[in-house]
Amino acid sequence: MKERLFWILKNYGISDRIAKAFLEIPREGFLVKRYPSSYVYEDIVLVSYDDGEVYSTSSQPSLMAMFMEWAGLDEGMKVLEIGGGTGYNAAVMSRVVGKKGLVVTIEYFEKVCRIAQENMRRLGIENVVVVCGDGYYGVSDLAPYDVILATVGVDEVPEHWFRQLKDGGRVIVPINMKLSERQPAFLFVKKGNYLEGGYKLETRFIKAGGNLGNLLERNRKLLKDFPFRKAIQVPRLHVFVELVDLLTRRLTRVNGIFYYVGSEGVVEFLDDEMRIYGDAPEIESLLFQWEECGYRSFEHLVLHIGYNVLSHISCTI
Ligand code: SAH
Repeated sequence: MKERLFWILKNYGISDRIAKAFLEIPREGFLVKRYPSSYVYEDIVLVSYDDGEVYSTSSQPSLMAMFMEWAGLDEGMKVLEIGGGTGYNAAVMSRVVGKKGLVVTIEYFEKVCRIAQENMRRLGIENVVVVCGDGYYGVSDLAPYDVILATVGVDEVPEHWFRQLKDGGRVIVPINMKLSERQPAFLFVKKGNYLEGGYKLETRFIKAGGNLGNLLERNRKLLKDFPFRKAIQVPRLHVFVELVDLLTRRLTRVNGIFYYVGSEGVVEFLDDEMRIYGDAPEIESLLFQWEECGYRSFEHLVLHIGYNVLSHISCTI
């Protein structure tokens, strides 16, 4: 059964090292719910835990394998997984990084987290550390990481992750778009003060809880009154709002209207114009860059997300 999965992964162009790791870990050992054995190694999402209140899934193997490929996951690496669930993916990654490597995984729900810890113990998997808590903060004690890989849809890549990532390290992350129900996955590389990279493909994970799922609420608290300055007409404004969200992590929503919350001003996004209150030179500069790139959507741009420096975009992929 596992062999069939191995060949499915090979058909996706997955490398031997990663595909073989799936042969070494019994997926049934991570499913609290019982499935017919023929299901377990299908290339599908399975519910791993469901008590009516808390819910976790074992992600689709081919998608996990692709994430690992993009991460360049290899022997000896240290990886942080966000959204540990009952631990299947962490266990598979532990075989890719091998004895000299380490997988740290963080799971928000205590009950699910305890099951993951027990699963690792029962299966004698020693190079996985399962931490219970909000993945928003990462796991600073064991940083820095070569790779941070999220298996849950998050509102942003928080600064904690950025700081815990090695320079040159990679982040693979499904991001919850705020205007649509989309959850595109991105690959970023840390270069100095920036995460650089872009869109990979559409996904559909569980949406994160805790601080990884409440960005709009947190930003709402930062809203302040500023005097109206000017209105600017913007073509394809909804596309621009998504870019502002990805690049600044400073979007909020009040009564169905989106706002950018800056330190010197606020920008209100209406149907085809944005209204600036106070100053938001960073947004005006972004608009200028975006115009230069022909108003392309984020899938066709390179994102340079700054941490404590201004973000920017470039047009060539
Ligand atoms: N990697 C898992 C997939 C888990 S599904 C596997 O291989 O089985 C996503 C998990 O993310 C869920 O268990 C959910 O409880 C968890 N989660 C949700 N919000 C989180 C947060 N803020 N921090 C960490 N984990 C979170």
